[in-house]
Amino acid sequence: MGKYDYIDTLKNLVIDLQKNLTKIKAINPENGGDGEYNKFLFLKNYLSNWGFDNMEEIFVPDERVSSKVRPTLIVTLNGKEKDRRLWIITHTDVVPEGEIKLWDTDPFEAVVKDDKIYGRGTEDNQQSLVSSLVAVKFLLDNKIIPQFSLKLMFVADEEVGSGYGIDWILKNKNIFNKNDLILTPDVGDPEGNSIEIAEKSILWVTFKINGKQSHGSRPDKGINAARASSYLCVRLDELYKIYDEKNTLFDIPYSTFEPTKRIGTVTNMNTIPGEETLGLDCRILPCYKIEEVLTKIQSIAASVEKDFGVKIEISIQQRLQAAPPTDKDAPVVKLLQKAIKNIHNKEAKLIGIGGGTVAAYFRMEGIQAALWSTVDNTMHSPNEYSSIKSTLSDAKVFADIMLGAD
Ligand SMILES: [Zn+2]
Repeated sequence: MGKYDYIDTLKNLVIDLQKNLTKIKAINPENGGDGEYNKFLFLKNYLSNWGFDNMEEIFVPDERVSSKVRPTLIVTLNGKEKDRRLWIITHTDVVPEGEIKLWDTDPFEAVVKDDKIYGRGTEDNQQSLVSSLVAVKFLLDNKIIPQFSLKLMFVADEEVGSGYGIDWILKNKNIFNKNDLILTPDVGDPEGNSIEIAEKSILWVTFKINGKQSHGSRPDKGINAARASSYLCVRLDELYKIYDEKNTLFDIPYSTFEPTKRIGTVTNMNTIPGEETLGLDCRILPCYKIEEVLTKIQSIAASVEKDFGVKIEISIQQRLQAAPPTDKDAPVVKLLQKAIKNIHNKEAKLIGIGGGTVAAYFRMEGIQAALWSTVDNTMHSPNEYSSIKSTLSDAKVFADIMLGAD
């Protein structure tokens, strides 16, 4: 009998947890929801008699939701090494169902079909949340003391920027230290073969190009904002040549600078447009400073202003400087690799992604964090689902890490 075979007997726990969690709509107020409080309460009650050594709650004030707080729950199981702590951090909030017509089942009623559990949130992030609980249940039922002190954290507000979740907690509560092992399983691939250790910086810039409207036959009387906008678009392509560093850790190994949104103001054929808006989505390798890229963007815009006589207003929609990547040899990365090897006999590769996970906030504080899970990436889509098999096999990897992955 294998060391972790017991975990395969916990299939009903997976289904029960998924059904209960999916039923409770934990949608952020920005998306028209009432937050995570009921999901937090459910978890608190559900876990109250499991035998944890400690349960803590963190409430971040938020007047927009009826409970007036955004809740985070932390459950602790003491390990052999009291001072070495392993955190598995998952989020309780979910995105809205989107267009309901595209769903084959009720998004907030988990439906089991063979290996799949359908419903909003079943994959993002309930699958890993459930895996972490299954791993702990295995330890508790078999009276196994983990190597590290375990902290499972069920955090609020991941989907809309973590301002009432991990970002707030890192800024206001002194509960993490640099020696902690931090796992935030919220990114993955179907093979369970990629450990995310790096993210690109995000910069979203909007340019409002102001020229002068005139009759279509009299360009001499106007300043054509559409022409200036097009030249701006082309000149911004220069960014690819200037910031051309490559890093093979990333799936796209270079920085990207893509014009996205274009809004014109003229709908008829015979008017020279006096105004146009252009959006630019930049995903920048962590070796570059956003400041530096932004200065270059401003000088490109200034050259278009000069050459075409337009005025360009620049505004920034999003700006998040990527922290330095997690060390390839960080203990949490090594442990994960070893556990994946032990359970699946696979060498997991280290990767970087386009940006914006909970781990980024840890890296900014100089705390090493890694992301890993086995998911089909149906998150945020209609008919989102979670695989029961992957939930259980990820639980085995988590359990192996909890035991030190020897
Ligand atoms: Zn997520």
